[in-house]
Amino acid sequence: SMAQQSNNGICHFTEAQGKQLHRQYQLVSRLHTALEEGSLSLHFQAKVRADDGVLVGAEALLRWNDSQLGPVSPAEFIPVAERCGLITAISAWLMQQAMSELKIWQQAGLDIKMAINLTAKDLLCETLLADIQAALRKSGISADKLTIELTESSVALHPQLAAQQLQALRARGISTELDDFGTGFSSFSHLRKFPIDTLKIDQSFIVDIALSAEARAIVQSIVTLGKTLNMSIVAEGVETLNQACLLRELGVDILQGYFFNKPACSVEFVEQINSWLPLKTQLFLQTASER
Ligand code: C2E
Ligand code: MG
Ligand code: MG
Ligand code: MG
Repeated sequence: SMAQQSNNGICHFTEAQGKQLHRQYQLVSRLHTALEEGSLSLHFQAKVRADDGVLVGAEALLRWNDSQLGPVSPAEFIPVAERCGLITAISAWLMQQAMSELKIWQQAGLDIKMAINLTAKDLLCETLLADIQAALRKSGISADKLTIELTESSVALHPQLAAQQLQALRARGISTELDDFGTGFSSFSHLRKFPIDTLKIDQSFIVDIALSAEARAIVQSIVTLGKTLNMSIVAEGVETLNQACLLRELGVDILQGYFFNKPACSVEFVEQINSWLPLKTQLFLQTASER
């Protein structure tokens, strides 16, 4: 449907469509070299408990800085990697990488969980559990330190198979989190059947929470829904102190966003949590308790 078909059946592309195709082609061909060339890396973002401001986890976020294309956003290259079949190798690499980073932090006395993002393809892949087990074993990380983040649409693609995989993850002690919650889910009946530990409220609901009673009502109802289903609640995209305080009042358990830290490489992340992250959480707790 990208190209318009003319009478004789020949496809004609507009200039914009041609450019888009060219970009896709470039991404695919460069992605093939990304793992060997070492142009993929991970950034980490803090997950902070709303109750007491304690750092409880980190989310690993992929970064790709290609020697020819420059930095490419995961929002752009992950779907491409999924389509061209490279995602399984990339995800296996990122599991290993995230687990070995966590091991280094553990050895420095930091006891937190690590969350990684996986796609629908990863979830439905036969080797998923083996890849995860291999990464855990190789790094000596226990399964209860790992959280898998999946979007609503990833689990809704093949609900039955997804539910089985989620069950298998849970049986091994791995936590699961439904990312971008509120943006794509078709049916609440699925939600009840999925063994999911945590709902992560999409940042689009957080952005205007201070201004919009409707946004607050949506957050409130997700919190109520989650608690009823025995799930914990995370909010992503928390950018201001006021948002953090409001979300705590609404009963959100864990907060994540630029207010606490911008995703950074492992070395910088450790610097952040040793320098101004404690100051931020202190300010947050003090302000929240005075309101
Ligand atoms: P996501 O998992 O929902 O990640 C949240 C995105 O919001 C990240 O963008 C993060 O950098 C950004 N973010 C965090 N805090 C704030 C904030 O306070 N304000 C705003 N405006 N943004 C904030 P990023 O890193 O560009 O990733 C985008 C998406 O790409 C992710 O959404 C995820 O779906 C996907 N992604 C990233 N890394 C991976 C990965 O390793 N594997 C897979 N499968 N997908 C990934
Ligand atoms: Mg995520
Ligand atoms: Mg998200
Ligand atoms: Mg998101």
